[in-house]
Amino acid sequence: MPGREKPEILLQGMGVSSGVAVGPAVVLSREDEEVPVRAIAESEIMKEIARFERAVIETRRQLREIQSHATETIGRADAGIFEMHQMVLEDGLFIDRVVRKIREQGMNAEQATQEAAVEYSKALSALQDDYLKERVADIRDVARRLIRNLMGRQVPSLSGVQTKCVVVANDLGPSETAMFRKDQVLGFVTEGGSPLSHTAIMARGLEIPAVVGLRDVCRSVAPGDELLVDGDKGLVVIHPAASRLREYGKLVEWRQKIRRDLAVRHQHEKGRTADGVDIAVEANIETPEEAREVRRHGAEGVGLMRSEYLFMKADTLPDEATQYAAYRKAAEAVAPASLIIRTLDSGGDKVLPAFRTPIEANPFLGFRAIRFCLAYPEIFKIQLRAILRAAVGGNVLLMYPMITTVEEVRRANALLQEVREELHREGMPFGERMPVGIMIETPAAAVAADILAKEVAFFSLGTNDLIQYTLAVDRVNDRVASLYAPTHPAILRLIRTTVEGGRHAGIWTGVCGEMAGDPVLTPLLVGLGVRRLSMNPANIPLVKHYLLKCSSSECRALAEEALAAETADAVLAMCRGMIRRVAPELLDLIGAFS
Ligand code: PEP
Ligand code: MG
Repeated sequence: MPGREKPEILLQGMGVSSGVAVGPAVVLSREDEEVPVRAIAESEIMKEIARFERAVIETRRQLREIQSHATETIGRADAGIFEMHQMVLEDGLFIDRVVRKIREQGMNAEQATQEAAVEYSKALSALQDDYLKERVADIRDVARRLIRNLMGRQVPSLSGVQTKCVVVANDLGPSETAMFRKDQVLGFVTEGGSPLSHTAIMARGLEIPAVVGLRDVCRSVAPGDELLVDGDKGLVVIHPAASRLREYGKLVEWRQKIRRDLAVRHQHEKGRTADGVDIAVEANIETPEEAREVRRHGAEGVGLMRSEYLFMKADTLPDEATQYAAYRKAAEAVAPASLIIRTLDSGGDKVLPAFRTPIEANPFLGFRAIRFCLAYPEIFKIQLRAILRAAVGGNVLLMYPMITTVEEVRRANALLQEVREELHREGMPFGERMPVGIMIETPAAAVAADILAKEVAFFSLGTNDLIQYTLAVDRVNDRVASLYAPTHPAILRLIRTTVEGGRHAGIWTGVCGEMAGDPVLTPLLVGLGVRRLSMNPANIPLVKHYLLKCSSSECRALAEEALAAETADAVLAMCRGMIRRVAPELLDLIGAFS
């Protein structure tokens, strides 16, 4: 390979998706994309508007296609971004602005689209609202696609590329990333981007190693250059030396082998500490199809089924029969193990296509989840009926998301009781003793856990949101991502308060946020009294393995020391110290995003 005779060039960026990739570069640079500017005669205006409308229709068609492709490859939740993109095309303010520019200023459609997108983005960026600011990237992505369609140009794609490659780009929109096929794109490297961008999230979903934030990389790399991408260290090597490739090759093989061995070794074991304390290790799922797969990973049950998946995929709300079929299928696949179905958790970044609520300034603090369900009991009761009926087919538990007050729990339970009575009257079989729990994902719920515990059968800590709300860090805003700290002292105290509130009332507390699947944090959570951990299924063998090496007293000692610490970094260092001491073999497997 001629590339290896050239000197190595090392570039340091941000690793956003674990793993190592080696392959020839394909450079998708946007620098040559000039938007044509042309004055339109009055007689051409209607034709130009029609041309713009056709481009909108074509763009919408492409986005739908991308969305269904992305749903298959990266899952429903991550593919939801294309829902957002389609909403840009339905945004009257944006579309009217383009049409006005054509009609009133005689601009051609490409220029009008470009200018409208810039103006609209500027207006959103100026707002004191991080969520709307985040939408700027969506508007730019959609405008770029619209302009390409107007120009009859292909969206930069890999369609002409025959070989497996590493993609190098200025930036990648989620719509471009979603079209990547894992068997063609070995890795990618971009000049822009951040760990929490949708593109990075998708790379993790697709398990494609990725490094972002490498200024000028498009100029440094020539098409065909051999590249090594280390998504854990954030390192990119142009013309990697043979010795480096050998080392990396061994590392990759080694990681795969350990993961395979751990999966086989622990598949049928229960999660248990070295001194025999049971810790249920469960899976998070979105679809009933995934329920069939979880046993293969060694899951002892499903600790979180995100039911909103069913609501996000259709233009109409799913009826009782559709929901019943989905929940029952999942319950049967998991039985006799338990399946915890979370009721509709809409809002925030999860938009229901069938039920568009007005745009809110602070959607994560807005009309979402249980608030939405209690405001629309006719929708909520259909879901409750379906879950209660499906409970006959397995070991089903139900939980409500986003609880902040005890009244919400009581009102939800009152509706559940009404539904039980209706089913009883109808002679319809249902899970009469189905346990009902709540997610603890707001600071209010954690602090008031003792009050809430009297009303429910279990707690499940949704740490993704609990961290967001406690630390005032928008979980989808990459500019504040460095403040998102699971080991912050405030979070540990809230977890402890929740566990203790539950324990006094005799109920258990689990964790189903991302913290549960990070092996580095396993002994900390166990030491804080958590007894059920529900996670990304791929990490189940790692967590079970580590548990077997920790005694419950060591976990308690770690948690006590952590609770006395003053900073998130200090706690993280303790947790890292413990895994290094107790299970160093796992260190190689835990990448930037374990
Ligand atoms: C959480 O908030 O931790 C959680 C599990 O729910 P979601 O990620 O779906 O908001
Ligand atoms: Mg949540």
